[in-house]
Amino acid sequence: MTTTALCMVDTHAHLDMRAFNNDRGEVTARALDAGVGTIITVGTNLNSSKRAIEIAEKHPEVLAAVGFHPHDATAVDKAAIATLGEIARHPRVVAIGELGLDFYRDYSPREAQLQAMKWQLELAAKLELPVIIHCRQAERVMIDLLCDWVSLYKGPHGQCTGVIHCFNGHNDNARRYLDMGFCLSLGAYIGYPGAASTYDVIRSIPEDRLLIETDCPFLPPQSHRGKRNEPSYLPLTIELLAKIKGKPSEEVARKTTGNALRLFHIAKNAGKGSFRGVLR
Ligand SMILES: [Zn+2]
Repeated sequence: MTTTALCMVDTHAHLDMRAFNNDRGEVTARALDAGVGTIITVGTNLNSSKRAIEIAEKHPEVLAAVGFHPHDATAVDKAAIATLGEIARHPRVVAIGELGLDFYRDYSPREAQLQAMKWQLELAAKLELPVIIHCRQAERVMIDLLCDWVSLYKGPHGQCTGVIHCFNGHNDNARRYLDMGFCLSLGAYIGYPGAASTYDVIRSIPEDRLLIETDCPFLPPQSHRGKRNEPSYLPLTIELLAKIKGKPSEEVARKTTGNALRLFHIAKNAGKGSFRGVLR
């Protein structure tokens, strides 16, 4: 595959999950072989965030995001946020996330989801870290919250920015997110049956705002449905995107990689073919 010459960034993986317990090292090695030079492994609660950092310490190609998923919002109180703030200062941490709202599953009461999200947004602004947002059937509330956040913390040092992960191009909220300065991230689900109706929205996303992700172990490419997803499958999403956009896959890989490096302040470790460290 032609994209393997480039270093792609999987901006959303869950390498801490049990699905990877038996072969985590092989999974990251396969990713490197496939041209995925950097993987951001994303925490979903305190324990998972700590595990994400441990994995990032062990694997030079892995960076961590720390946060509380809306499913875990009931566990979030001021003390938990304080601890999150402490671990977020670790040099391998590049973002707060994933945080957000999930009114589809509603595993946590909506009040708790909103509070957890507000606290994490405040923390991200304070630490000047980008946020990784999960949003399911809560777009209207989400857009209002993010609007308030962006305007509240706007300032000379304000860095209210982030990515809407697993963006579902079915709606035209893309414009609202983009206007606020957010990136939109797409995964292999853009190749699932029925996804063609989202292609117009996907084509309308500016090139400098597009990210790619696996969300592994979830959402495998169509050709691997029913199996575990992993970062080495990321080039399949690049190929799909290239086809949708009518652009060469090398160009899509280069642009989305550049966007990820910029958003997460990842420095290129020249000569080694992988990205390490954080510029702040
Ligand atoms: Zn996730």
